[in-house]
Amino acid sequence: MTEPRPRPASSTPTIAILGAGISGLCLGIQLLRAGIRSFTIYEKSERVGGTWFENSYPGACCDVPSHLYSLSFAPKPDWSRKFSPQPEIQAYLEETARRFGLFDHIRFGTEIAGASFDEDAGEWHLRTTAGEAIRANVFVAATGQLNRPHVPDLPGLADFAGTQWHSARWNHAHDYSGEDVAVVGNGASAIQFIPFLQQKARKLTILQRSANYIIARQDRAYTEREKWLLRWVPGLLRADRWRIWALFELNFRTFVQGSWFGKQMRKRALSYLHEVVKDPALRAKLTPDYDIGCKRILISDDYYQAIVQPNVEVVTTPIERITRDGVVTKDGVLHAAKTLVFATGFETTSFLAPMTIEGRGGRKLEDAWRNGAEAHLGIAVSGFPNLFLMYGPNTNLGHNSIIFMIECQANYILRTIEDMIARGAAWMDVRKAVEDRYNAGVQRDLARTAWAAGCSSWYKNAAGKVTNNWSGIVTDYWWRTRRPELGDFEMGFRR
Ligand code: NAP
Repeated sequence: MTEPRPRPASSTPTIAILGAGISGLCLGIQLLRAGIRSFTIYEKSERVGGTWFENSYPGACCDVPSHLYSLSFAPKPDWSRKFSPQPEIQAYLEETARRFGLFDHIRFGTEIAGASFDEDAGEWHLRTTAGEAIRANVFVAATGQLNRPHVPDLPGLADFAGTQWHSARWNHAHDYSGEDVAVVGNGASAIQFIPFLQQKARKLTILQRSANYIIARQDRAYTEREKWLLRWVPGLLRADRWRIWALFELNFRTFVQGSWFGKQMRKRALSYLHEVVKDPALRAKLTPDYDIGCKRILISDDYYQAIVQPNVEVVTTPIERITRDGVVTKDGVLHAAKTLVFATGFETTSFLAPMTIEGRGGRKLEDAWRNGAEAHLGIAVSGFPNLFLMYGPNTNLGHNSIIFMIECQANYILRTIEDMIARGAAWMDVRKAVEDRYNAGVQRDLARTAWAAGCSSWYKNAAGKVTNNWSGIVTDYWWRTRRPELGDFEMGFRR
């Protein structure tokens, strides 16, 4: 494909992108491919990768197959395994950023504290945490849903005498060999690193609040022959990607409440549990009491295998407090620990917090989102012109690759910017009625899905509204985001 010549920076809006994770990188590359160079990606860390840079715990690995969990315009024929490990994904993202010439556009070590929209100038005024002021016509928050670790405020936490950390801030310097280790939480992150802790800990205690459905990952290394074929046989890599994509798309049916497919998936998960865990008491603890799909369905080849080992105890009694020596549960038992790992997830429903974002008329985003975050297509929020979100409200998936959604969002944002340039507009603001109609539809559709069923999960806010997940198949999202409808937006022009 021939790419357009770079356009003079004076003819394109200045664009500030927050975050050099997959979303920020994807948008940056698409802007460059469209000849737009007037953008900067602000990244708080010193490396690209976002969640893949931060989550470096042992065993960190993607639970979406490698050939689907990569950017469509940057395929990689030589992924080492069916499910790629974190260091390989991180290397892929760094290599992709370098190959497309993105590093010149990234400012590392820069965290944005807040932003406000100047309607007269048609500009966003951003403030960094170091007090620097930055102006941009377009402001893209590509910060995603999983970037702020959540550590529960447990009584006595400060008294703990051992070493503690959150799974997304892994303490690689601490050697826990031979120690008593306790892990709070047993979600997607925990089940990946627990097998490593189990091998080295004297005793490993898992404090489990709810059980999860787990199916076998069936991971394996690609053979050299497979990698050769994927690299050299024309169309094979692309065909393999679309094969996986189509299978996953069909799998959406699992997440329709009460569906036959959901029941089959439940049987599959429970039969895997029976196959590996022979002790009926432990099996009972590990059997979920809610609809399958309500929380993320986990995939693993080694979690159950690790927790049936004699040095592991799964504790389901709720935590009462933390003491100097470990975790005390509500039955008064002290679970001794020298190392305490929180695998307790992320602050997922407050999205752009703690940044303060002020739109037209000084309206705060947190006020607009008082009843739960929402945005048109998960991208545009009425009253906040030229603010675009990537991996925003109601765009998370349970059945397919989030990278597909991110590419749809990058396309939509790019086209909106192109429309703005073509019409000489300073800003575009999605109409409130459009945003409301869209979100009413999303919530209506979500009511039929497993995510709305009776469990607590990171997909819902405190009031029980599903603010994080997309409500349908990704084909539907692609269709809706293939180009912006100009009538959906109010346009502003420079005075
Ligand atoms: P998570 O799924 O939110 O799991 C948090 C765990 O901590 C749950 O077991 C939760 O119990 C428990 N917990 C939270 N607060 C607690 C408290 N106060 N007391 C006791 N237990 C508490 O977080 P995560 O495992 O980090 O995963 C988050 C998401 O990241 C995943 O769903 C997935 O989308 C993504 N992820 C992906 C991969 C991958 O392979 N690509 C790997 C890791 C993570 P409850 O279930 O009872 O709330």
